[in-house]
Amino acid sequence: MHCPFCSAVDTKVIDSRLVGDGSQVRRRRQCLECNERFTTFESAELIMPRVVKSNEFRESFNEDKLRNGMLRALEKRPVSSDDVELAISHIKSQIRATGEREIPTKTIGNLVMDALKKLDKVAYIRFASVYRSFEDVKEFGEEIAKLED
Ligand SMILES: [Zn+2]
Repeated sequence: MHCPFCSAVDTKVIDSRLVGDGSQVRRRRQCLECNERFTTFESAELIMPRVVKSNEFRESFNEDKLRNGMLRALEKRPVSSDDVELAISHIKSQIRATGEREIPTKTIGNLVMDALKKLDKVAYIRFASVYRSFEDVKEFGEEIAKLED
């Protein structure tokens, strides 16, 4: 690929390693012209189902949105970035495994809640309280009671 600093055509790979669960490759590259170094990440482009929102609007699956929602819930919690990325790639493979062309946001929300439940109970409660927006207060109370046991 072209050098992002001087736009030279030729760059060489000086280091290449797998990231996380092996679904991504991280490459260190060096420009043959200006010698600047930079990093690229490579991952397979797999088609994700479209997301159906509660108002029936459709939109493309947005991994950043998923990540931001989880990170907001995990703010100031003792969970490593690696664990978050692993959880995200697990959620994505679960979504792909449905084999559906469209997936309701509710299903994605439930997958996120399952993942957060395993990562951090406080983050799980934070996410669940926002996500369910207290539409089901009784069930939510039961979840908290379960965690307190
Ligand atoms: Zn360069």
